[in-house]
Amino acid sequence: MYSIDREQQATVRDSFSLRGIGIHSGQAVAVTVHPAQDGGVRFECSRYPGVTIPACFSSVRSTPRSTVLAAGDARVATTEHLLAALSALGVDHARVVVEGEELPALDGSAVEYVRAILAVGRKPLDRRREPLRLRRPVWVSEGEAHLLALPAPGLRLSYVLEYPHPLVGTQVASIAITAERFATAVAPARTFGFLEWAEQLRARGLALGASPENTVVIAPDRILAPLRFPDEFVRHKILDLVGDLALLGRPLHAHVIAVRGGHATNIALVTQIGTDAARQMESV
Ligand SMILES: [Zn+2]
Repeated sequence: MYSIDREQQATVRDSFSLRGIGIHSGQAVAVTVHPAQDGGVRFECSRYPGVTIPACFSSVRSTPRSTVLAAGDARVATTEHLLAALSALGVDHARVVVEGEELPALDGSAVEYVRAILAVGRKPLDRRREPLRLRRPVWVSEGEAHLLALPAPGLRLSYVLEYPHPLVGTQVASIAITAERFATAVAPARTFGFLEWAEQLRARGLALGASPENTVVIAPDRILAPLRFPDEFVRHKILDLVGDLALLGRPLHAHVIAVRGGHATNIALVTQIGTDAARQMESV
């Protein structure tokens, strides 16, 4: 479907735009992805011209149910689904202009981003990609959440999701992240939320744009939409993890095993891997 020469760095062949509602802000927002020759993936907010937010773990401002990147006063929330699609499809450099402060939720998954990237195509650049290869295991634990990254020849993500809800329970998935596997097995998995969380999240100013169009709602006794995969929830957690790992700015070669967790633990792991890698480069 999408054979990419992963040896070469790449950008998108042309610009594309998507618009919709921010799942947390509830605001109408739009995003345009432009080609870039270098500089990695960078965000610009139309409200703060001239300010660039690199898609890097050091730009993470907070992780309240989504990954918020910021530089100065400029911030952009819910970056993970677009970043997952760009990194899994081998797009290393892009200038992403956001109208508003959040990326559109679209249908709650990354399929529209994948479709848009495939439609414009990937343009290889004449520089080699340098994957970040782990030299030793790296792990983080926060409360009941654990993330372990082991050296491996490519990127594989294994995830154990567990919620004390009779219709969710424990879901386990292990997926080798190639462009094709990502596009077919990961990108379509949608955001989910428990009905009983809704009020509490809204009180905190979150999930204001959440609706059945962009969220699989789990009520106490039923799931309010047909699922795309029987294990759609754990696949969505893998999608979010791919997006957060993209904040390393380089393809990661590792087997990452997650038990529970969320954006905060993802970012803690990414920060540790990224800081280790920077230290190793300094010592070479
Ligand atoms: Zn997500």
